[in-house]
Amino acid sequence: MTAENITAPLLAWYESAQRDLPWRHTRDPYRIWVSEVMLQQTRVEAVRGYYERFLQALPDVQALAQAEEPVYLKLWEGLGYYSRVRNLHRAAVMVCEEYGGEFPASSAQLRKLPGIGDYTAGAVASIAFGERVPAVDGNVLRVVTRLWDDSRPVSDPKVRAALREQVAALVPEAAPGAFNQALMELGATVCVPNGAPHCADCPLSHLCEGFRLGTAAGLPVKASKKPRRIEERTVFLLRCGELVALRRRPEAGLLGGMWEFPAAEEALAPAAARGQLAAWGLETGQLLSLRPAKHIFTHIEWHMTGYYAACTAPVGGFTWATLPQLREDYTLPSAFRSFLAVL
Ligand code: SF4
Repeated sequence: MTAENITAPLLAWYESAQRDLPWRHTRDPYRIWVSEVMLQQTRVEAVRGYYERFLQALPDVQALAQAEEPVYLKLWEGLGYYSRVRNLHRAAVMVCEEYGGEFPASSAQLRKLPGIGDYTAGAVASIAFGERVPAVDGNVLRVVTRLWDDSRPVSDPKVRAALREQVAALVPEAAPGAFNQALMELGATVCVPNGAPHCADCPLSHLCEGFRLGTAAGLPVKASKKPRRIEERTVFLLRCGELVALRRRPEAGLLGGMWEFPAAEEALAPAAARGQLAAWGLETGQLLSLRPAKHIFTHIEWHMTGYYAACTAPVGGFTWATLPQLREDYTLPSAFRSFLAVL
């Protein structure tokens, strides 16, 4: 299997089969970078609206560098993994201060910016600047391990580095960006995860060892994951007239610096929940139980008990906001979305 054998049918397929996605109509490194960061851990369909909205509000790297934290957090609200947007902002400031507002045009320099690893540097450098470098994400790893019937565990960084080198040797000088996007597109739409790939529609099936040997569906091999840690929480929706109680999470750790409803770090029965309200110095009327909710993070699962209470005064050391303020000015992570719906 030579590089040419793979490149020609793959690029021809991509030309006709690629999805029409907004970030594929530009060579602007800023726009490509924003799309790549949004697409980490998030589905294409979910990203579309966010991408348009983010770029309308912050159309270039200067605008992002000058934006205040509540503005870019609000634009990211619901996408999760908020360190991504904080790193975007830090990197934008660096591009403006250290590179005169022009994106560095090599993957080696891009990698020095906050939040940009091998994959993102490769994607931006190859698509925006035509650098001959690979961009190996989960989709690409799946395609190539199947193509080569490679059963080494891709959870091993050494294996990933070796596969990246193998893919690097395939990237054509003439069309590195299209090649990288084509491999990713093949992984996203044809050589799909969780079940049988659509080999009958694949432009590389005549070369594919995983297809020939019938091993593709079991690849790539990943080491078994540790089970997620379960954390119990009790979330309080506290109203005082038109106002709702909020507080900021500590800067370090999960959802660092984000807003949340007041909460206790354990599951509280109604009597203990009343005790917690009293400890915060709140006088409340009837305590209503809410439907429990669950939120799954990468390594942690929150199991949340919820209560609603009307308070006599907006005290307790919390920030109290009206509902329109909550919608416009505060970013509430999607972990609390089901409780927010109650309001
Ligand atoms: S032939 Fe099947 S397994 Fe092989 S790359 Fe194509 S879709 Fe994936």
